[in-house]
Amino acid sequence: MTGLAEAIVDLGAVAHNTRLLTRAAAGVQLMAVVKANAFGHGATAVARTALANGASWLGVTSLPEALALRADGITAPLLLWLYSPSEALDRALELDVDVSVSSPAALETLAETAERTGRTAFVHLKADTGLSRGGATADEWQHLVTVAAKLQGRQRISVRGIWSHLAQAEDPTDPGLHRQLDAFAGARALAADGGLTAPLTHLANSAAVLQLPDTHFDLVRTGIALYGVEPVPGRSFGLRPAMTLQATVVLTKRVPAGSGVSYGPDHITDRETNLALVPVGFADGIPRGAAGQAEISVHGVRCPVVGRIAMDQIVVDVGALHVRAGDTVTVFGPGTSGEPTVGDWARWAGTSPHEILTGIGTRVPRRWVSSSQPGLPASAEAIADLA
Ligand SMILES: *Cc1c(COP(=O)(O)O)cnc(C)c1O
Repeated sequence: MTGLAEAIVDLGAVAHNTRLLTRAAAGVQLMAVVKANAFGHGATAVARTALANGASWLGVTSLPEALALRADGITAPLLLWLYSPSEALDRALELDVDVSVSSPAALETLAETAERTGRTAFVHLKADTGLSRGGATADEWQHLVTVAAKLQGRQRISVRGIWSHLAQAEDPTDPGLHRQLDAFAGARALAADGGLTAPLTHLANSAAVLQLPDTHFDLVRTGIALYGVEPVPGRSFGLRPAMTLQATVVLTKRVPAGSGVSYGPDHITDRETNLALVPVGFADGIPRGAAGQAEISVHGVRCPVVGRIAMDQIVVDVGALHVRAGDTVTVFGPGTSGEPTVGDWARWAGTSPHEILTGIGTRVPRRWVSSSQPGLPASAEAIADLA
């Protein structure tokens, strides 16, 4: 590595995870959720890899994300589920992007857009089955279905999907999960009564794909598992973490006992030791809240991050290890060589692996490699570089 830091994204792991999830989905379609730049892994690279390994749909949460995938030549079916009421979706319809709809007003606006562009809008009607985020509530659902049936009759929209999202799928015995499943069944029955059927019914996220076959329907939507984070606490399904964050030591120094380290100082050395300056900080997504607990891997040895995590740098106490400026250290990786994982960082910071992965900043260049073996062998072949 020549720069300060890089996120190495192992597309071999993404391919493995996609195949594993496709097998778990057992015959139904798989949507690769590539929102937030594929959870920080690079939307286009991940989308191509997932599509080549069993995914047939892509999912995103903003119009610019959808347009960027189309601009990169990705023509696969694509669902968009967040947009503002005033956002013009002309380009989405022109580029065959399906749109999620949660309200009659949004559906009317979309029908007008379809009229204006001379297209049919393919919509996925979203039911709120208990998450209270997107989707029409049980009270609103009938109205949404009635408006959809009317607009579909005029050929302006075509209902491709009926869908919802789960509040949690980690605990299969949770009563809330079963209330959501019942509510979803109710919403589908109401739609069918209104003469509205959709070719695609979808509900499952990563955890549900892996352990709740009753939620699979026609299509499953997987995010975090694609990136190799096990979605069910305490269970391993054999997923492989895709991202390794490495950095270059920019300076080392020997300091006496009693030396203050970083701002505050929150840390005072208790002995004479060697410190390594590692140029990643909270601007790169290293969570400040992990200070006092975090470790990184230096030549295969876990060393504590000492003192406050600053915007651009952290200090690591490397003790008696021989470390020189220019050496590469691993902030997190698959964990196969003893290095911390994204899950470790999440625990240290009191957050989720999702927040760690999506937080890795744009200043950190991504490098996509493809390994066929678990972990990230040194021979991993670099297949693309992003400056
Ligand atoms: C993010 C997201 C997913 C993916 O969920 P994971 O738990 O990461 O698999 C699926 N559906 C919707 C609506 C989402 O927003």
